[in-house]
Amino acid sequence: MRCAVYVRVSTDMETQKTSIAHQKNFFEKYIENKRWTLYKIYQDIESGRSIKKREGLQALLEDSKEGKFDIVLTKSISRFARNTLEGLILVRDFKARNIRFVTIEDGFDSEEYDEFMFTLLLSIAQKESEKMSERIRFGKLCRAKRGYYNGSNPPYGYKKLDKYTMIPAEDITTYVVKKIFSMYLEGKGLYKIAKELNKHGYPTPSQAAGKQNSGVIWHQSSIRKILSNRFYVGDLVQNKSRTVNVLTGERKENKEEIIIIKNTHDGIIDPLIFEEVQKRLKENKKKKIGNQTHLFSGILVCGECNRKMYYKKNRDAYICATVNKMGKDYCNGAYIKEEILIKLICSELKKIINENCCKNMLLKEIEKEIKNGDEQKKLRKLEKSIIKLNQKKDRLIDMMMDYLIDKKMYIKKMREIEGQKSLLEENKEVIIERLKKRKGYGEQVVKEIFMMESLDRMVINKLIEKIKVFKNGKVIIEYTFKL
Ligand SMILES: [Zn+2]
Repeated sequence: MRCAVYVRVSTDMETQKTSIAHQKNFFEKYIENKRWTLYKIYQDIESGRSIKKREGLQALLEDSKEGKFDIVLTKSISRFARNTLEGLILVRDFKARNIRFVTIEDGFDSEEYDEFMFTLLLSIAQKESEKMSERIRFGKLCRAKRGYYNGSNPPYGYKKLDKYTMIPAEDITTYVVKKIFSMYLEGKGLYKIAKELNKHGYPTPSQAAGKQNSGVIWHQSSIRKILSNRFYVGDLVQNKSRTVNVLTGERKENKEEIIIIKNTHDGIIDPLIFEEVQKRLKENKKKKIGNQTHLFSGILVCGECNRKMYYKKNRDAYICATVNKMGKDYCNGAYIKEEILIKLICSELKKIINENCCKNMLLKEIEKEIKNGDEQKKLRKLEKSIIKLNQKKDRLIDMMMDYLIDKKMYIKKMREIEGQKSLLEENKEVIIERLKKRKGYGEQVVKEIFMMESLDRMVINKLIEKIKVFKNGKVIIEYTFKL
């Protein structure tokens, strides 16, 4: 696999952590790890708000036409494309050239996911950046009101500086956190990592917190908890979910609004490393869940007793494990038909994409693109040339009428002009044809994206963390992404 890497930074926004050198370093290691080869790193540096020509991206596109690489890697979708349409067109072009497109942070892989997913991720990314400044403001408010961290103890590897500030402890625990991440990236599993930590006798989270009767053994679950805690990159996170009532169709956000406040404290893990770890955790989970045959197996939980729900073939529905095993005396028992759940999830996902990526906006973008495109310019130029030729023809007729040229000359010149004109007209037809197709293409793209009528295991794993079903028909969906 020959890899092209695209990095983009804006000089006034980036901290040290996301600098170009740093990104390059990350990708070099990433590629080495996969035993691929690096073809070239393309880069664009922007300053201020203006978007420059993006020569790096242009060069990448040119080289992609010549098939110089097989895969394009970049940090995130929003880094790559300025808007949804541009992103879609680029990815379609790559696909047509058999080039795979992978983004690390949002985990998009053109080999695995379709355009619906791409659009969804892109609109999430756009929303994210819009909300960024809002969040920073909110973060300050948060800090002033409640302090940094809601938990009573600092996360493993951190200590409290004062009531409101968490800083890396810079002791053995901070070292252990870094060690856990690096071991996982080296390919060690949770069990192996736990074993190794136990061998060294490193303090466990409950020991570090100074709990009485604290456990001295590292378990896989505590390793997983650390690996998936975003606090370690410097962000503060609270969970968010969306509640839907199947019976009434009523939707509401949970009281606990999502809060991801970026850069609230010093991180100890690099964001790119963190994202890579999340991706692998998910992949491993997927492998486990992948063995189960039913669409929602493994992510469906009974809201009444918090146990898993199982698929019952004879009813084409999921039922609570407790009820299934021990009967109705032990749990009120959630129950949901698969068909209903599929419809519900589809409509929720569509709703999210509609809220975040308006169809009309997308069409407008397409029309703008067509209007401003090179083809339109060419067309106008051609039309001007045709008018000029017509004027030439008129003048020629005048000249012959005035006996300024003889008939032989007239016919010769006229033939030349007609020849040129028909050539131009042919060109014009070709362009008009192409423009027509383009317009239809845009509409087609939009239609396809918003269709999304089937769900598959892949899409569900990518987007949904957990679904809780209650007896009264309430369904709570926890997404893997945050809006
Ligand atoms: Zn139950």
